Amino acid sequence: MKGLKRSKEVGEAFRELGYRLTPQRQLILTALQQSDDHISAEDIHARVCAKYPQVNISTVYRTLELLKGLGLVTETDLGSGRFRYHPAEKGHHHHLICEQCGNTIETAESPFLSLKRTLLMEYGFKANISHLAIFGRCARCRR
Ligand SMILES: [Zn+2]
Ligand SMILES: [Zn+2]
Repeated sequence: MKGLKRSKEVGEAFRELGYRLTPQRQLILTALQQSDDHISAEDIHARVCAKYPQVNISTVYRTLELLKGLGLVTETDLGSGRFRYHPAEKGHHHHLICEQCGNTIETAESPFLSLKRTLLMEYGFKANISHLAIFGRCARCRR
């Protein structure tokens, strides 16, 4: 039920920005909100199709582009073109991805706060660091 409540909030934010919340868009938002993990456009499409089989995947892509542009969802490439989506409010973490075994580790935002500060102080640059994917080697593969 928590997911449903939050889906309404993103929907409201969307409407407040002057967009029409069509049933298709509502289903896309609901699929995004209800997924505990990162969801791909294909997975969203599969969920939407369970109710509206006529929805085209390009509608899903277009809606995600729109939501991304509005800052309501984040898009992250978790390697080899695996794009995953999050409602923006769930994006307060980062990912460490092992290039060797594909293992992914979720990190908090805190390790990046000092980087943000340094960039601001030394370059006057206000970095928009949210939901990063950082590639490298995990502890297991470094052995
Ligand atoms: Zn994430
Ligand atoms: Zn590894």
